[in-house]
Amino acid sequence: MKSSNDLRTLLNSIDHKGYPAYKGTRGEYSFGDYILSIDHVQGDPFASPSKVSAIISGKQNRLPATLYNQPHKRIALQDHLLRQFSRALEPYTFKAKGSGKSGLISVSRCGQEILERTACTIQPQNGDLKICMEIGFPANGRTINSRELIRILFDFLPDAIHASFYYPKLNHKKIQEVIQLAEDQQYIREQLPKMHLCAFIANGSILPRESGISHRPMRNAIPFQSPSSIEITLELPNRGPIQGLGIPNGITLIVGGGYHGKSTLLKALETGVYNHISGDGREYVITEDSAMKIRAEDGRSIYHTDISLFINDLPNGKDTIAFSTEDASGSTSQAANIVESMEAGTHTFLIDEDTSATNFMIRDELMQRVVHRDKEPITPFIERVRYLYETCGISSVIVAGSSGAYFQMADHIIQMDRYVPLEITGSAKDAAKDFPEIKLPEAPAKNPTFSRIMKPARLGADRGRIKLKTLSKDAFSINRDTVDLRYVEQLMDSEQTTALAYCLLYAETHLFNGKSTLQQVVNTLSNLIQQKGLAALLECDYAKSNLASPRKQEIFACINRYRNL
Ligand code: ADP
Ligand code: MG
Repeated sequence: MKSSNDLRTLLNSIDHKGYPAYKGTRGEYSFGDYILSIDHVQGDPFASPSKVSAIISGKQNRLPATLYNQPHKRIALQDHLLRQFSRALEPYTFKAKGSGKSGLISVSRCGQEILERTACTIQPQNGDLKICMEIGFPANGRTINSRELIRILFDFLPDAIHASFYYPKLNHKKIQEVIQLAEDQQYIREQLPKMHLCAFIANGSILPRESGISHRPMRNAIPFQSPSSIEITLELPNRGPIQGLGIPNGITLIVGGGYHGKSTLLKALETGVYNHISGDGREYVITEDSAMKIRAEDGRSIYHTDISLFINDLPNGKDTIAFSTEDASGSTSQAANIVESMEAGTHTFLIDEDTSATNFMIRDELMQRVVHRDKEPITPFIERVRYLYETCGISSVIVAGSSGAYFQMADHIIQMDRYVPLEITGSAKDAAKDFPEIKLPEAPAKNPTFSRIMKPARLGADRGRIKLKTLSKDAFSINRDTVDLRYVEQLMDSEQTTALAYCLLYAETHLFNGKSTLQQVVNTLSNLIQQKGLAALLECDYAKSNLASPRKQEIFACINRYRNL
């Protein structure tokens, strides 16, 4: 392997040359206690910055294996080290000057969730650590200024790397706290199915966020306090006993006046499928891993989905067993979102009336009398929610502030009263007694079929390279198609979106073959990620994008929104 001195000599020799001469720096260089790898060099100073990584062997970094010998600990440690490195880099970014992105030094920005990311990985078998960053190689105009790059690679980076990744120099207490939190969170996740719960919210949790655009905790918020009737105690391995609300499997209704905190509670459950960092306020809000937010999504495309559980006999005679559309209505989109989530193996639905199609959720007594069942293609969710639980084992948590229709169906009813939950199951059920019972449809419900075969891919088969671009957290494009993920609300990070883009690309080029079902395709993808890591998706990406792990549920959701199926 070349040495750091070789790199220095090379850089000195290209000073003042045209920018493309930087391309020759690609390669690996030994810096003594780590390897610096220049993976991709930008085309000019205004293009996306260059990709550089550092590899610090387990022997050198001396991180004890007990900190990463289980996935939940390893992911928490990687996340912590990445955040710490990001802070260590802050004073150095743009300290080296020049045109365009000259002097930029950055790593992935982590939000409140703890996600597996390609930006910082630790090999479980030997502790080798890899950290990926972006550096704007400095230039004046388009003329190389390699003295500035030498400052970055030989002064700034070694400082930040040494301060961030060598165990003897790190704050052991802080790392211990990170690992202990990860163990406690994992413990709660493992307890949920054993205790027949779909979620746990610890007393004292801070659920509301600072603002619509900030995921940080709201200051001076009212801390969560479980109603005593459904309070449970868990014995966490590190923190010890913790009390909170255990939401039982079944049908749980959240009611209450407008602005009393219903949607905030549901949002916390949606993000509870991920672990949160210390100080977030939702560290001990844990939702069963497969839980899926279900909402209406007018205008989305649907491909060969069996929505007959909810929609039948459409006036245009369209098939609802293999339903396809380029422009779904509120109710058909919500039906598809449910059925697709069942296909993705979801055990919990999270539904908010604010984002639901009313005609999908309920049909009131008067309307039933006026418009006969035969004339209504929609079997509303309320008539299926019991079936879904009893037969399919899928629980529902439903926010419904404006209709009491669900009182009869619910196992548990929680009222949010000025941000304080109260259990009102008994009194609400009593009040519901005087109202006519909900009539269930006479024809028995039939489980949807999930035998959709994915047509052989058309992309890449004929043409050359496929172009991928992450447009934001909410969308990416693959050649000329845009996949809109705006309403896949549990997607938290644009690096997850990029990972989904690569999942789709991988499926298009390897797995859509006219034989495999969507379930088989996604299983293959998630096994690949599980066994070889996220980076396995990047086989044909020379620029090495940063990825963060999506759940299997989001991989399904992404493929389902691809309009070129
Ligand atoms: P609902 O869905 O019942 O209409 P929301 O959940 O949208 O109510 O909450 C209304 C407002 O109250 C939001 O601005 C939210 O940030 C705030 N809020 C929610 N929970 C709390 C809390 N525990 N303490 C303080 N403010 C809260
Ligand atoms: Mg609301």
